[in-house]
This record gives sequence, C-alpha cells and structure tokens, in this order.
Amino acid sequence: MTGESSSLPPVTPPLPWQHAAWERLLASRKGGSLPHALLLAGLPGTGCERFALALARYLLCAAPVQGTNCGDCKACRLTASGAHGDFLILEPTGKGQVIPVGQVRDAIAFGAQTPGLGQCKVLLIAPAERMNAAAANALLKTLEEPPANTYLLLVTGAESRLPATVRSRCQVLRFPVPAEDDCLSWLAEGRDQEAARQALALAAGRPLRAAELLQEGELATATKQRAAVEALLGGRAAAPAVDAALADLPLDAFLELLVRVLQDALRTLSPAALRSPRGQGLFACLDEVQGAARAVAAGANPQPELARATLLGGLEARLGERAADARLRSVFSPVTRL
Ligand SMILES: [Zn+2]
Repeated sequence: MTGESSSLPPVTPPLPWQHAAWERLLASRKGGSLPHALLLAGLPGTGCERFALALARYLLCAAPVQGTNCGDCKACRLTASGAHGDFLILEPTGKGQVIPVGQVRDAIAFGAQTPGLGQCKVLLIAPAERMNAAAANALLKTLEEPPANTYLLLVTGAESRLPATVRSRCQVLRFPVPAEDDCLSWLAEGRDQEAARQALALAAGRPLRAAELLQEGELATATKQRAAVEALLGGRAAAPAVDAALADLPLDAFLELLVRVLQDALRTLSPAALRSPRGQGLFACLDEVQGAARAVAAGANPQPELARATLLGGLEARLGERAADARLRSVFSPVTRL
C-alpha cells in the first residue's frame, strides 16, 4: 500500500451522506453478493475515494465493529500505517499524471498472490480514468474474472472518460453531490458556520473541497481568486492583473474556477439576456474553457503560463474592458458617423 493513505486514523468510516450506499454494500457483503469489481463514480471532492478507502479497510479487517473496520486488529494497524501487503493502491505518477501499464501489470501479479493475512486482497485504483489505454486494456481480463478473494475498487471523477470496456465490467455505484444541509453539518463541526457556507459555495457544493478551503488562509485566497475572475468578466480588471492574482493555481484548478464563474454568470441571466451579445459571449467563453479543461483532463500538457494568458485574454476580449471598447468603437463606426 502506498500514497496519501499512509498514517491513517485507526478507523475509517464512510462520510455521513454515504450511509445509504454503505449499508447496501454491507448487506450484499453479508449475503455473499458483493461485486468483485466496483466502480465508484462521483465528482472529485465529494468523497468517493474516502468511501473506497473505508470499504477497503472494512474488507481487510479481521473483525469489523458496528459496520466499520475495527481499528484494532493487525490488518487495521497495517492499513493505517500503509504497510498491508494485501492492499494495493494505484495512483497517477509522473509529469503526465497517468497510471501506466506497468503499474497495472504489477497489480495483476498482486492479484494472483494468496492473501498474506488470509482475509482478502483489495486493489484500489484512483482516479481510474487516469489509466492510459494500454493500462485499461491490461486490466480488462482481471476485471472480468477477478482472482478469488480479490476486490477491485475503481474510483472516478469522470466516468465518461473511462473506456466502455472497463465500465461494463464493473458494477457502477454513483455518488451525487451531497445535499447542502448534510455538507454543512459535517463542515461546520468545530468551525464557523458562515465560513463553512462560504467555502461550500466556492467549492460548488463539494464538501471535501470546501474542507480544504477552510484550512488556514485558503478561503480568503479562493475568495480573492474568484473575485478576480468576476472583475475580469465585469470589465473591472484587466487580464494581466487577473493572471497575476491566479498565478498560484494549478492549471486544472484554474480551468475549473473559470468554468464555475462563467456558469454562475450565465445562471443569473434572463432568457432575453442569454440571447444578448453578452450572453452569447459568455456561452462562447464557456465552450472555449470547457474545451481546454477536457483537453487537460485527457492528458494534454500545455505550458500553464501561456494557456492561462491566452484564455484570460480571450475572456477579456469577449466580455471585459476590451469588449466594452469594441462596442464603443462599433457605435462610432464609420457607418454611424456618415
Ligand atoms: Zn480490524
């Protein structure tokens, strides 16, 4: 077992909004019908990986207590420290952030071994859509006929990007964005209620992302970054200034922020305003940014500074100060002056 999950607390329960899905899986486990290949699909920041981890630890635990891993047995101590030989996590590596075929081959070899502690083996792949084509192909046979006592848990934030051949071999469990009230009561534990609400809004309703924002300083930064994009769209700030305000954001987070602000801006427009030049400009910008986000998610690796400057320049030209100038120029165009 490798990666971020080392040094876990003794017990990993599912998150409060996942209880119904959790109970269903536990019931099928008790009935002996838990699928050996599960695809857990939900937007990043809503807790799919946490659910998969809770399930992995539950399955590996020698004596689960009250529907979670016990936290006390040898298996639980080993999954907490990241040293359990029957638990393997595949995560993206390297600059391209892909899961290469070599990792999947190692995982298949892992699946072929007998469980060391005699319980079962768990292979967790997250995010599964980061497997490249060769890796996904290599996994197909194992998905179809998983070795005895082996569970494959695939986590994805972008189900449609997984090959249909992978999806069709898994039982799919979809996690919607949780209800706001559930998120807020979880987020607000020991925290300022208003800050929790603000963070959840900035995180587009995704509670784990909101919890990250509530870490010291993050919320103020995220608020400023969003305000900078809004100022650009409102013609109150120039692209280079906005670029500087967003310089610390990784490219995928930058694109996500742009998509969200553009969607929110469109949501506030009346049907008539949607057909206006501004509405059309917002649509065109959203298309462009979503196209860039799809390309990046599919593995494109543009130079971040250049991509950022180009997109912000485009937004400014269509919606910002430069767009206002262009509208003025069109009012005073030669035809008008004649
Ligand atoms: Zn245990």
